Amino acid sequence: MYLTSGLHRSLQRHPEKIATVSGDRRQSYAELIERVSRRASALHKLGLKAGDRLAIVSQNSDRMIELLLACWWSGLVAQPVNTRWAPSEMGYAIADSGARAVATCSNMLTIVQAIDSDMPALDWYLYLDDDQEPEGYINLEKVSHSSHPMDDMRCAADALAAIVYTGGTTGSPKGVMLSHGNFWSSLVGRMVEVPSASNSVTLLTSPMFHVAGLSRMILQILVGGTSVTLPGFQPQSVIELIKQEGVHDLMLVPSMLQMLMNTENFDPEYLPSLKRVFWGAAPIALPLLQEALARFPAVEFVHSYAMTETAASVSVLSIENHPSFIQSNRFRSVGRGTLSSEIRIINENGEPVACGTNGEILLRGPGIMKGYWRRPVDTEKAYLDGWLRTGDVGYLDEEGYLFVTDRLKDMIISGGENIYPAEVESVICSHPSISQCAVIGIPHKKWGESVHAVIVFKAGMTASEEILLDHCRHVLSRFKCPRSFEFKDSLPLTAAGKVDKKLLRVRNQSVQKSI
Ligand code: ATP
Ligand code: MG
Repeated sequence: MYLTSGLHRSLQRHPEKIATVSGDRRQSYAELIERVSRRASALHKLGLKAGDRLAIVSQNSDRMIELLLACWWSGLVAQPVNTRWAPSEMGYAIADSGARAVATCSNMLTIVQAIDSDMPALDWYLYLDDDQEPEGYINLEKVSHSSHPMDDMRCAADALAAIVYTGGTTGSPKGVMLSHGNFWSSLVGRMVEVPSASNSVTLLTSPMFHVAGLSRMILQILVGGTSVTLPGFQPQSVIELIKQEGVHDLMLVPSMLQMLMNTENFDPEYLPSLKRVFWGAAPIALPLLQEALARFPAVEFVHSYAMTETAASVSVLSIENHPSFIQSNRFRSVGRGTLSSEIRIINENGEPVACGTNGEILLRGPGIMKGYWRRPVDTEKAYLDGWLRTGDVGYLDEEGYLFVTDRLKDMIISGGENIYPAEVESVICSHPSISQCAVIGIPHKKWGESVHAVIVFKAGMTASEEILLDHCRHVLSRFKCPRSFEFKDSLPLTAAGKVDKKLLRVRNQSVQKSI
């Protein structure tokens, strides 16, 4: 049984339950299945064929969920487009995927109209919202009122379900080909580790143009839970929605957790329904996590490690919220590989390394992508003897717990020593005056690179370079301590909410440190 059959069964099993909540709209599973099959029928009637790509430029909504499911129902390949990209980047991705149609919502309409000149002419322009469609756009609701039988043959394990673009943190975003089987296997493995109850209410804080949001939406439907959507991440609206809808599960990237922690009313008394917080996607500063655990003693915090290339999490760790665990090394881990993922660590020569030794993390399993879309050279480079090269550095402990140390591309090599910025950042962030910090390598005449720290203070607080350096020297070896500091009001973030180190490095490129 594969993704579509699983979704189909689930849609039929819970007809009365609420499947989606978007603004004032609540939709039961019975209504959702009806709308999905009508949309599948409309796509078929228009002339879209199995394997055709359908670009979706939309903020998270029930209408986007319906369209994604309708794509899979009828064998189409969904290409959710990052709505935080510049219009030219969106145009590039739509052209790159060779989409035949694009679907959008009212909020994104002007942007899609603006990128039209960057895109090749498409055969269909679809409109997702319920109001009157603009000229030249088709409202699928008006195309067909009949149901379309789900075609399992077109949705076999190997058939492409989606092309999802990577975050573009280290280079330009690449289209990742994910099959129905990839999603299915990844999610089944993930569900065994951290089961989701069929009455769970999840707030889809992650956009569905990233696998985190996309796979979470699929998971919610597979278990028969409720997905609450909101168009963008506004801390105050997130807090209000948790309260209003009795949300149990929240998924965050560390920068979102930081924003929530700084917001009024983000406290357990105001949010009694909150049961679990999942986070991942980037290294988290341990003081931030410790603060969150202290503030929410009854909430389960779950750390996971995933890439666009893995469709869903490949490892998960449920944090035990008691002092001995928080002080143990395992607290820093991203957990053990899920049932569907194997993890291996190798050195520069491609040989497996001993437990506790840092090396590149490799992954293998049925959830791993089919390759990069139309990038055979990148695809070839991404694998080593059938294992996916993650480009991340990490190590395994004796019981198989994975520790993600940092990205290979972010590693600083200073005077021949390897320095992992995430370690330095965690130490700097443990200073009481610091809100956020990013550590990068900048050119250095003598050492090749030197450690540079970009600092954001908490409101109303400050500390001198000497104090911060002294703080670092208490914990870190001398060569890991920053040689220069920069003080900013905020850190630049990528469209995925990760610190944009590429940009920070470019800004500091010309700074040659000779001290
Ligand atoms: P690009 O591949 O285009 O540079 P990206 O790697 O940021 O962008 P994603 O696929 O969204 O795009 O992110 C996957 C990466 O995120 C991982 O390779 C890893 O570096 C980082 N990551 C994911 N989860 C964690 C985690 N729990 N802790 C630390 N880093 C993480
Ligand atoms: Mg990547």
